[in-house]
Amino acid sequence: MSRWIAKGLKGGIHTTRFPETVTTGEEGAPSTVRVRLQGLNPAVALAASSRCPTSAISTDGSETAGELRFDAGACVLCGRCSREFPSAFTQVRDPRVAVVSRDRLRATFSWDEEHELAPVSLQATAQLLQQATSRLFRHSLHIRHVDAGSCNGCESELQMLSSPYVDLQRLGIFFTPTPRHADVLLVTGVVTHSMTGPLLETYAAMPSPKLVIAAGACAISCGSFENSSLTNGPLDRLLAVDAYIPGCPPTPQALLHGLLLAVGRAGERYRAGQEEPDGA
Ligand code: SF4
Ligand code: SF4
Repeated sequence: MSRWIAKGLKGGIHTTRFPETVTTGEEGAPSTVRVRLQGLNPAVALAASSRCPTSAISTDGSETAGELRFDAGACVLCGRCSREFPSAFTQVRDPRVAVVSRDRLRATFSWDEEHELAPVSLQATAQLLQQATSRLFRHSLHIRHVDAGSCNGCESELQMLSSPYVDLQRLGIFFTPTPRHADVLLVTGVVTHSMTGPLLETYAAMPSPKLVIAAGACAISCGSFENSSLTNGPLDRLLAVDAYIPGCPPTPQALLHGLLLAVGRAGERYRAGQEEPDGA
């Protein structure tokens, strides 16, 4: 026993300091994609939209005039755009990518006959969380997770939240098996027909006030299954969503950021189509 204690003391603390300290280096999985206006031109926009496997990048127009729409909520992080058009699309490795408004994940750019590109809408219409509600949960938060039709990729990352490295309990955040004790409904997956009923029943069984978080491209936009007849999603068609965590899957630290954002303990940084995140 004493050997294990000595070994533990010698090893020191391995738990991440996130969110106090944020690693934004090249290591680790990407959290989302950013559009770089200076590297974008009509030819790249049209080619990238044809390479994107989801509707995350879509165009409307021709080389002479048109629009590019980027939706980080539909991005499944396949890496094609940043690999093939690195001057226009870059992977974001900062895990602080959760937002409180779906619009913050969308950006639109247009080009004219001179090939001049300009942002059309970088919407700042953040539907702010009800601060009074979120403040109630600042110190202790219980999460009921519902897999509403996921591939289990998101669940693998969610499991990592309880690992010694992330250790979300140190922040006063816990998973609960019962909706009666839950403050947050965290949903992954496309919301299949068969999971719609259980999802809504779980929400109804939670006491008020309560928050809803959409985690992963499937919950936010149905991702690769956007036009499937087997889903009722995305989630915000059924429930008002308080925070969106993009990614496929979102990294554990991105999930943590989304939870802290939902209760007002972290701020938004990501905004689709913006060169660099806000603030430090
Ligand atoms: S990384 Fe995202 S935006 Fe880029 S091609 Fe893949 S799905 Fe589309
Ligand atoms: S967002 Fe990606 S990892 Fe998560 S359930 Fe959908 S396909 Fe799987």
